[in-house]
Amino acid sequence: MPVPLLDLAAHHAPLLDEIRVAVDEVMVKNAFVLGFATDAFEANLAEACGVDHAIGCSSGTDALLMAMMAYDIGPGDEVIVPTFTFFATAGVVHRLGAKPVFVDIDPATFNVDPTAVEAAINPNTKAIMPVHLYGQCADMGAITAIASKHGIPVIEDAAQAIGARYDDQPAGSIGQIGCLSFYPTKNLGAFGDAGAVLTNDDALAERLRQMRLHGQSDAYNHETVGGNFRIDGIQSAALNVKLRHLDKYGDARRAAACRYHQLLSDTPLTLPDAADKCWHVYNQFTVRVSDGRRDEFSAHLAEQGIGNRVYYPLCLHLQPCFSQYGGASGDCPEGERASEEVLSLPMFPELTETQQDEVSAAVHSFFG
Ligand SMILES: *Cc1c(COP(=O)(O)O)cnc(C)c1O
Repeated sequence: MPVPLLDLAAHHAPLLDEIRVAVDEVMVKNAFVLGFATDAFEANLAEACGVDHAIGCSSGTDALLMAMMAYDIGPGDEVIVPTFTFFATAGVVHRLGAKPVFVDIDPATFNVDPTAVEAAINPNTKAIMPVHLYGQCADMGAITAIASKHGIPVIEDAAQAIGARYDDQPAGSIGQIGCLSFYPTKNLGAFGDAGAVLTNDDALAERLRQMRLHGQSDAYNHETVGGNFRIDGIQSAALNVKLRHLDKYGDARRAAACRYHQLLSDTPLTLPDAADKCWHVYNQFTVRVSDGRRDEFSAHLAEQGIGNRVYYPLCLHLQPCFSQYGGASGDCPEGERASEEVLSLPMFPELTETQQDEVSAAVHSFFG
């Protein structure tokens, strides 16, 4: 039996009736943009993430963009980002005319290496943007210590990590601003695009709300230029229903990860482990395949009907669109090695033991 990488039909089936009722209310009340459903979702999201302010927006990418804009980041400024992440992390920096400074990762966690972060700081550095890749927080103890020593804000890209914790602090609540994505493949997925920014700073929250509405401070009065970064009422309503189950989703993903360890520890794969102080919520279960056999392994699994995917096959310092920043092969050896070795296996809260046994059989048949 084939096993998908992600099964959204299985994920949503138990909630569809409740979501239909919530979406219907938005339609009847014509509250399509922001509105009552967004107000309710933002209040519940702030509580779930342990912050004073949660501000819904149009996507995870726009959450990152709003955060940068709230700090007036632009030409002449630098923002430190890991080289091994989804494109959006650095794309937003470039779009504002600032320079993304790509640094290497810690091979044990795939997250940014704090030593490399500190080495990249200079007087132009305006923010540090750690990414909590695959559902596990970066080393936020070290990163926030470096940031406060140098007086630089930390903007967390927590797009893959809602529900994760570092030293008992929720992902997205640790830096000055946390950015979430509700893209359907994330641990809390909408029925389309959506995102949110989190902060405990009242003044920043005010500024972020303005950025979301073209920068207006009150009706038709603009002291800054923002954008249309609003969240839909329908997305807010659906997310509000799903949010109640977020902890359960995280627990199910952790249980599946634990079972993968039982099933696959006798193979040559390097399996992902939770780092010190980290509560990992496994947005992805990402293994390493050494000896240059990753692509062959991926093709074998696909042939057996096992969903799998490489997140991410090319480091950002090597992307053609960023060639002006002078990145070269060998600059970030651990990021580059990860891009050649990683493979993500099926992972979602409804993954059954039978499905995991199928994955295990396909993996074992490759290694013989
Ligand atoms: C998904 C993702 C984003 C962007 O979120 P969208 O909602 O797709 O715009 C940003 N950063 C990371 C690490 C992501 O995984």
